[in-house]
Amino acid sequence: MNTGKLYLVGLGPGDAGNLTPAAAAAIADSDELVGYHYYIEQVAGEAAGKVSHAMELGQELERAALAVDIAYSGKTVAVVSSGDAGIYGMAGPVFRVLTDRQWNGHNPAVETVPGVSALQSAAALLGSPLMQDFCAISLSNLLTPWEQIRRRLEAAAAGDFVTVLYNPRSRRRVSQLQEARDIYLAHRSSDTPVGIVRHAFRPEQAVSLAVLGGLDGERLGVDMFTTVVIGNSNTYVHNGRMVTPRGYEAKG
Ligand code: SAH
Repeated sequence: MNTGKLYLVGLGPGDAGNLTPAAAAAIADSDELVGYHYYIEQVAGEAAGKVSHAMELGQELERAALAVDIAYSGKTVAVVSSGDAGIYGMAGPVFRVLTDRQWNGHNPAVETVPGVSALQSAAALLGSPLMQDFCAISLSNLLTPWEQIRRRLEAAAAGDFVTVLYNPRSRRRVSQLQEARDIYLAHRSSDTPVGIVRHAFRPEQAVSLAVLGGLDGERLGVDMFTTVVIGNSNTYVHNGRMVTPRGYEAKG
Protein backbone atom coordinates (compact mmCIF):
# COMPACT_ATOMS: atom_id res chain seq x y z
CA MET A 1 0.00 0.00 0.00
CA ASN A 2 1.25 3.47 -0.86
CA THR A 3 1.97 5.73 2.07
CA GLY A 4 1.73 9.27 0.80
CA LYS A 5 1.90 12.38 2.87
CA LEU A 6 0.11 15.70 2.79
CA TYR A 7 1.57 18.73 4.52
CA LEU A 8 -0.59 21.78 5.28
CA VAL A 9 1.96 24.56 5.37
CA GLY A 10 1.54 28.14 6.56
CA LEU A 11 4.06 30.39 4.84
CA GLY A 12 3.71 33.37 7.18
CA PRO A 13 3.08 36.91 5.91
CA GLY A 14 5.39 36.77 2.92
CA ASP A 15 9.03 37.39 3.79
CA ALA A 16 11.71 34.74 4.11
CA GLY A 17 12.42 35.66 7.73
CA ASN A 18 8.92 34.77 8.86
CA LEU A 19 8.82 31.46 6.99
CA THR A 20 9.51 28.95 9.77
CA PRO A 21 12.31 26.39 9.40
CA ALA A 22 9.64 23.67 9.77
CA ALA A 23 7.67 25.14 6.85
CA ALA A 24 10.79 25.29 4.67
CA ALA A 25 11.62 21.68 5.64
CA ALA A 26 8.10 20.48 4.75
CA ILE A 27 8.37 22.11 1.32
CA ALA A 28 11.83 20.62 0.82
CA ASP A 29 10.43 17.18 1.73
CA SER A 30 7.57 17.44 -0.80
CA ASP A 31 7.48 16.16 -4.36
CA GLU A 32 4.69 18.53 -5.41
CA LEU A 33 3.17 21.83 -4.25
CA VAL A 34 -0.41 23.13 -4.39
CA GLY A 35 -1.47 26.71 -3.66
CA TYR A 36 -2.21 30.15 -5.07
CA HIS A 37 0.24 31.46 -7.68
CA TYR A 38 1.20 34.29 -5.42
CA TYR A 39 2.17 32.03 -2.52
CA ILE A 40 4.00 29.49 -4.64
CA GLU A 41 6.05 32.39 -6.06
CA GLN A 42 6.77 33.45 -2.50
CA VAL A 43 8.65 30.18 -1.92
CA ALA A 44 10.16 29.93 -5.40
CA GLY A 45 13.58 29.17 -3.90
CA GLU A 46 12.35 26.27 -1.77
CA ALA A 47 10.05 25.08 -4.58
CA ALA A 48 12.73 24.92 -7.28
CA GLY A 49 12.60 21.65 -9.19
CA LYS A 50 9.23 20.54 -7.77
CA VAL A 51 5.95 20.09 -9.62
CA SER A 52 3.77 23.10 -8.74
CA HIS A 53 -0.01 23.23 -9.13
CA ALA A 54 -0.85 26.90 -8.95
CA MET A 55 -4.48 27.81 -8.39
CA GLU A 56 -6.75 30.78 -8.83
CA LEU A 57 -9.16 32.20 -6.25
CA GLY A 58 -12.27 30.07 -5.95
CA GLN A 59 -10.56 26.76 -6.79
CA GLU A 60 -10.00 25.71 -3.18
CA LEU A 61 -11.99 22.47 -3.21
CA GLU A 62 -10.64 21.39 -6.61
CA ARG A 63 -7.07 22.01 -5.51
CA ALA A 64 -7.65 20.32 -2.17
CA ALA A 65 -8.99 17.29 -4.06
CA LEU A 66 -5.96 17.32 -6.35
CA ALA A 67 -3.61 17.44 -3.34
CA VAL A 68 -5.46 14.57 -1.66
CA ASP A 69 -5.22 12.54 -4.90
CA ILE A 70 -1.47 13.15 -5.02
CA ALA A 71 -1.07 12.02 -1.42
CA TYR A 72 -3.22 8.89 -1.98
CA SER A 73 -0.99 8.05 -4.98
CA GLY A 74 1.91 7.69 -2.55
CA LYS A 75 3.69 11.00 -3.11
CA THR A 76 4.40 13.80 -0.67
CA VAL A 77 2.55 17.02 -1.37
CA ALA A 78 2.57 20.40 0.39
CA VAL A 79 -0.57 22.54 0.30
CA VAL A 80 0.56 26.08 1.03
CA SER A 81 -1.41 28.99 2.51
CA SER A 82 -0.31 32.46 3.48
CA GLY A 83 -0.09 33.04 7.22
CA ASP A 84 -1.38 29.88 8.90
CA ALA A 85 -3.09 27.20 6.80
CA GLY A 86 -5.58 26.61 9.60
CA ILE A 87 -6.78 30.23 9.77
CA TYR A 88 -9.04 31.01 6.80
CA GLY A 89 -6.61 28.85 4.80
CA MET A 90 -6.43 25.57 2.88
CA ALA A 91 -6.77 23.30 5.94
CA GLY A 92 -10.57 23.58 5.75
CA PRO A 93 -10.98 22.43 2.14
CA VAL A 94 -8.37 19.67 2.61
CA PHE A 95 -10.08 18.21 5.68
CA ARG A 96 -13.43 18.54 3.94
CA VAL A 97 -12.17 16.45 1.02
CA LEU A 98 -10.54 13.94 3.39
CA THR A 99 -13.84 13.60 5.26
CA ASP A 100 -15.72 13.03 2.00
CA ARG A 101 -13.21 10.31 1.07
CA GLN A 102 -13.57 8.63 4.46
CA TRP A 103 -9.89 9.08 5.16
CA ASN A 104 -8.70 6.59 7.83
CA GLY A 105 -6.68 9.16 9.78
CA HIS A 106 -3.18 7.89 8.97
CA ASN A 107 -2.86 6.95 5.32
CA PRO A 108 -2.02 9.30 3.74
CA ALA A 109 -0.32 10.99 6.67
CA VAL A 110 -1.45 14.58 7.20
CA GLU A 111 0.80 17.02 9.02
CA THR A 112 0.06 20.69 9.64
CA VAL A 113 2.93 23.13 9.94
CA PRO A 114 1.79 26.33 11.67
CA GLY A 115 2.66 29.73 10.26
CA VAL A 116 2.65 33.33 11.43
CA SER A 117 -0.90 34.52 10.79
CA ALA A 118 -1.84 38.01 9.60
CA LEU A 119 -3.15 38.93 13.04
CA GLN A 120 0.29 38.32 14.53
CA SER A 121 2.11 40.15 11.73
CA ALA A 122 -0.27 43.10 11.94
CA ALA A 123 -0.04 43.27 15.73
CA ALA A 124 3.75 43.18 15.62
CA LEU A 125 3.84 46.13 13.22
CA LEU A 126 1.21 48.15 15.09
CA GLY A 127 2.50 47.88 18.66
CA SER A 128 0.66 45.72 21.20
CA PRO A 129 -3.01 45.84 20.23
CA LEU A 130 -3.87 42.22 21.16
CA MET A 131 -2.94 42.42 24.84
CA GLN A 132 -6.46 41.69 26.08
CA ASP A 133 -9.10 39.32 24.75
CA PHE A 134 -9.48 39.58 21.02
CA CYS A 135 -11.17 37.82 18.15
CA ALA A 136 -10.79 37.50 14.41
CA ILE A 137 -13.67 38.02 12.01
CA SER A 138 -13.49 37.60 8.26
CA LEU A 139 -15.68 40.08 6.40
CA SER A 140 -15.82 37.84 3.35
CA ASN A 141 -19.39 36.74 2.75
CA LEU A 142 -18.46 34.47 -0.15
CA LEU A 143 -18.63 31.37 2.08
CA THR A 144 -20.46 32.74 5.16
CA PRO A 145 -23.83 34.53 5.00
CA TRP A 146 -23.53 38.24 5.82
CA GLU A 147 -26.25 37.99 8.48
CA GLN A 148 -24.10 35.54 10.43
CA ILE A 149 -21.04 37.78 10.11
CA ARG A 150 -23.12 40.73 11.31
CA ARG A 151 -24.21 38.78 14.38
CA ARG A 152 -20.61 37.99 15.22
CA LEU A 153 -19.60 41.62 14.74
CA GLU A 154 -22.42 42.70 17.07
CA ALA A 155 -21.32 40.19 19.72
CA ALA A 156 -17.63 41.14 19.48
CA ALA A 157 -18.44 44.84 19.60
CA ALA A 158 -20.74 44.41 22.59
CA GLY A 159 -18.17 42.19 24.33
CA ASP A 160 -15.44 44.84 23.98
CA PHE A 161 -13.17 42.42 22.13
CA VAL A 162 -10.25 43.86 20.23
CA THR A 163 -11.18 42.70 16.74
CA VAL A 164 -8.98 41.68 13.84
CA LEU A 165 -10.76 41.91 10.50
CA TYR A 166 -9.51 39.59 7.77
CA ASN A 167 -10.67 40.00 4.14
CA PRO A 168 -11.94 43.50 5.02
CA ARG A 169 -12.66 44.86 1.57
CA SER A 170 -12.33 43.99 -2.09
CA ARG A 171 -13.27 45.73 -5.30
CA ARG A 172 -16.70 44.10 -5.19
CA ARG A 173 -17.20 43.98 -1.42
CA VAL A 174 -17.00 47.58 -0.26
CA SER A 175 -20.00 47.94 2.08
CA GLN A 176 -19.03 45.32 4.70
CA LEU A 177 -16.26 47.33 6.34
CA GLN A 178 -18.51 50.39 6.59
CA GLU A 179 -21.28 48.30 8.15
CA ALA A 180 -18.78 46.84 10.60
CA ARG A 181 -17.67 50.36 11.56
CA ASP A 182 -21.27 51.37 12.23
CA ILE A 183 -21.86 48.31 14.40
CA TYR A 184 -18.76 49.11 16.50
CA LEU A 185 -19.67 52.79 16.72
CA ALA A 186 -22.86 51.75 18.53
CA HIS A 187 -20.66 50.25 21.29
CA ARG A 188 -17.34 52.16 21.24
CA SER A 189 -16.25 55.74 21.13
CA SER A 190 -15.55 57.26 17.71
CA ASP A 191 -11.91 57.93 18.69
CA THR A 192 -11.18 54.23 19.33
CA PRO A 193 -7.85 53.48 17.61
CA VAL A 194 -7.89 51.36 14.46
CA GLY A 195 -4.72 49.91 12.94
CA ILE A 196 -4.46 49.26 9.23
CA VAL A 197 -1.71 46.99 7.93
CA ARG A 198 -1.33 46.37 4.22
CA HIS A 199 1.08 43.75 2.85
CA ALA A 200 2.76 43.07 6.19
CA PHE A 201 6.39 42.00 5.78
CA ARG A 202 6.28 42.36 2.01
CA PRO A 203 8.03 45.05 -0.06
CA GLU A 204 4.74 47.01 -0.42
CA GLN A 205 4.17 47.10 3.37
CA ALA A 206 2.14 50.08 4.64
CA VAL A 207 1.06 50.61 8.25
CA SER A 208 -1.31 53.38 9.33
CA LEU A 209 -3.55 54.38 12.21
CA ALA A 210 -7.06 55.79 12.08
CA VAL A 211 -9.94 56.23 14.49
CA LEU A 212 -13.17 54.26 14.39
CA GLY A 213 -15.25 57.27 13.40
CA GLY A 214 -12.91 57.91 10.44
CA LEU A 215 -12.72 54.32 9.23
CA ASP A 216 -13.32 54.85 5.55
CA GLY A 217 -12.04 51.87 3.58
CA GLU A 218 -11.72 53.68 0.29
CA ARG A 219 -9.86 56.70 1.65
CA LEU A 220 -7.54 54.52 3.73
CA GLY A 221 -6.76 52.14 0.85
CA VAL A 222 -8.13 49.05 2.59
CA ASP A 223 -8.13 46.05 0.25
CA MET A 224 -7.73 42.27 0.29
CA PHE A 225 -4.06 42.58 1.24
CA THR A 226 -5.00 44.50 4.37
CA THR A 227 -5.70 43.49 7.95
CA VAL A 228 -7.67 45.91 10.13
CA VAL A 229 -7.40 45.89 13.93
CA ILE A 230 -10.12 47.67 15.93
CA GLY A 231 -9.05 48.50 19.48
CA ASN A 232 -11.17 47.95 22.58
CA SER A 233 -12.30 50.60 25.06
CA ASN A 234 -8.80 50.63 26.70
CA THR A 235 -6.69 50.83 23.54
CA TYR A 236 -4.65 54.00 23.04
CA VAL A 237 -1.96 55.34 20.72
CA HIS A 238 1.46 56.33 22.01
CA ASN A 239 4.19 57.60 19.67
CA GLY A 240 2.52 56.00 16.70
CA ARG A 241 2.05 52.63 18.39
CA MET A 242 -1.32 51.07 19.07
CA VAL A 243 -1.37 49.85 22.67
CA THR A 244 -3.95 47.79 24.54
CA PRO A 245 -2.77 47.75 28.15
CA ARG A 246 -2.35 44.32 29.69
CA GLY A 247 -4.43 45.30 32.66
CA TYR A 248 -1.81 45.84 35.42
CA GLU A 249 -3.04 49.42 35.80
CA ALA A 250 -6.46 48.27 36.92
CA LYS A 251 -4.89 45.75 39.33
CA GLY A 252 -2.48 48.21 40.95
N1 SAH B 1 -4.30 32.10 6.27
C1 SAH B 1 -4.07 33.54 6.29
C2 SAH B 1 -5.34 34.34 6.09
C3 SAH B 1 -5.97 34.14 4.72
S1 SAH B 1 -7.39 35.15 4.49
C4 SAH B 1 -3.40 33.93 7.61
O1 SAH B 1 -3.36 33.13 8.55
O2 SAH B 1 -2.88 35.05 7.70
C5 SAH B 1 -6.69 36.48 3.58
C6 SAH B 1 -6.63 37.74 4.42
O3 SAH B 1 -5.55 37.66 5.33
C7 SAH B 1 -6.37 39.01 3.65
O4 SAH B 1 -7.55 39.54 3.07
C8 SAH B 1 -5.82 39.92 4.72
O5 SAH B 1 -6.88 40.41 5.54
C9 SAH B 1 -5.01 38.94 5.57
N2 SAH B 1 -3.57 38.92 5.20
C10 SAH B 1 -2.88 37.84 4.76
N3 SAH B 1 -1.58 38.16 4.57
C11 SAH B 1 -1.45 39.47 4.92
C12 SAH B 1 -0.34 40.38 4.96
N4 SAH B 1 0.89 40.00 4.59
N5 SAH B 1 -0.57 41.66 5.38
C13 SAH B 1 -1.80 42.04 5.76
N6 SAH B 1 -2.88 41.23 5.74
C14 SAH B 1 -2.71 39.95 5.33
